[in-house]
Amino acid sequence: MRTIGILGGMSWESTVFYYQHINQLVKNARGGLTSAPMMIDSVDFAQMAQWQREGHWGLAAQYLGERARVLQDAGCQAIGIATNTMHKVYDEVAAMIDVPLVHIADAVCNEARAQHITHVLFLGTEFSMSEAFLRERYLTHGVRWTLPEQNERAWIHEVIFQRLCQGIVIQTDQETFAQLIHQYSQQADTPQAVVLGCTELAMLVGDAQMCTLPILDSAYIHARTLADVVLSD
Ligand code: GLU
Repeated sequence: MRTIGILGGMSWESTVFYYQHINQLVKNARGGLTSAPMMIDSVDFAQMAQWQREGHWGLAAQYLGERARVLQDAGCQAIGIATNTMHKVYDEVAAMIDVPLVHIADAVCNEARAQHITHVLFLGTEFSMSEAFLRERYLTHGVRWTLPEQNERAWIHEVIFQRLCQGIVIQTDQETFAQLIHQYSQQADTPQAVVLGCTELAMLVGDAQMCTLPILDSAYIHARTLADVVLSD
């Protein structure tokens, strides 16, 4: 099996999902006591979130690039950044290493294409929703977005940072989230699926039955793509 590296801790609440999903998928494939050769570099998210708020993306890029090099030099044969938002600095990080950096949007779009999905409701942090770095990558794969209204985006962003990234899950948030998705499933140009484009957002889907659009969970799909790397020859 190949060894993969995860740049995690952004937040650690969602890095846990990666650790579980990757090990479960590798175990499902190989059985018995098999677990995935993996190294996780878990950064301090308080520092990262401060750089995000203050617009110091260059500092974040340099830091994550250095951490990625550490993973590479320790033997990781491919690396994933376990957050959508930090893919804003994907190109800078990828340029600092020689092993593949597995892009979260490529993973999601490959799955979307396999399901013949070309139009999604995209939900994530305000950075991910409003800026072009993910939207354009989706478009190169032929997947276009519907985005929520500004007040809805602000609410999702607030819930991500004030609650989900701190491990706080509230039922009323889950209900509001389900209502928001339902509203977009009723519009004329209906998206074919909702992308949970933030690696914590699965925590807001309390009961998947309540979700009126098919779900593409970026954390699960990215983790599955990394598990495929582990299992590749
Ligand atoms: N994990 C989240 C994401 O997928 C948000 C945390 C961050 O800003 O990195 O975008």
